[in-house]
Amino acid sequence: MAQIIDGKALAAEIRANIKTEAAALPRKPGLAVILAGEDPASQLYVKNKVKDCAECGFFSRRIDLPVDVSEEELLGILNKLNADSRIDGVLVQLPLPEHMEEKRIIEAISPEKDVDAFHPLNVGRMVRGDSPVWPCTPAGIMEMLKAYRIAVDGKICVMVGRSNIVGKPMGLRLLRDHGTVVYCHRHTPDLAVLTRQADILVVAAGCKGLIHGSMVKEGAVVIDVAMNRDPETGKFSGDVVFDEVEPKVSYITPVPGGVGPMTRAMLMKNTLTLAKLHMGLACEH
Ligand code: ADP
Repeated sequence: MAQIIDGKALAAEIRANIKTEAAALPRKPGLAVILAGEDPASQLYVKNKVKDCAECGFFSRRIDLPVDVSEEELLGILNKLNADSRIDGVLVQLPLPEHMEEKRIIEAISPEKDVDAFHPLNVGRMVRGDSPVWPCTPAGIMEMLKAYRIAVDGKICVMVGRSNIVGKPMGLRLLRDHGTVVYCHRHTPDLAVLTRQADILVVAAGCKGLIHGSMVKEGAVVIDVAMNRDPETGKFSGDVVFDEVEPKVSYITPVPGGVGPMTRAMLMKNTLTLAKLHMGLACEH
């Protein structure tokens, strides 16, 4: 029987600590969130981000733009936010409308306000191992491992998925913390051979039911990042077949209530970190 990693409870604890820390700063940390278009899921995410800012005592600015906003207009807004001293973090909600070049927009955010750590300069810092902030999902997973005293040093870590937002930075972070990292993806010939080696298995493929009980090692730590929404019931489930895997492993994250709430909390933590850096206060990386 595994210990279930309670991301929801941990995220609430982290938010409370962030609030206390923010209240002691000379000014409020500030986050700007930009949404172009009216995608309902994106609208909900943005609403929650603004709500989390209020809960943590942060200053926030929400900027809603029409779906046909020009790239030049958005770049102009980003320039202003880059120069705004109340704003520590700038987040552009993805996906962007199709006519926009995502790379160009991400690169227009000042690397020092790049709260998601998507800017290539910060990606380079991640490769080097010293980025001040890491993308929210990998950052949240590291907080979970820390809270449950799960060491990475010396462990075989298998990362299923290699997206720029989750898989790649997650693997880099595990590597930085002295894990031995294997990346698996769509072109991996025999996934099970590799997942069975994992002491720590992180799954972010967006493929419901991908990881069966036979694919994990006894006593492994299993982190399920996916949020697969059933179109009929609207319920969310992960990539891991929980009922098969849970009896075999030592720790497992549930979906929902695992990685999701932690990802959300880490946006606040990253904003706080950038705010402290902008105020000249020391931060641990
Ligand atoms: P996210 O942003 O949540 O990481 P993406 O859809 O961008 O999700 O990326 C999914 C990743 O999962 C890709 O790297 C892809 O290669 C990997 N993947 C998808 N299906 C499988 C599979 N069946 N086996 C192994 N890897 C997979």
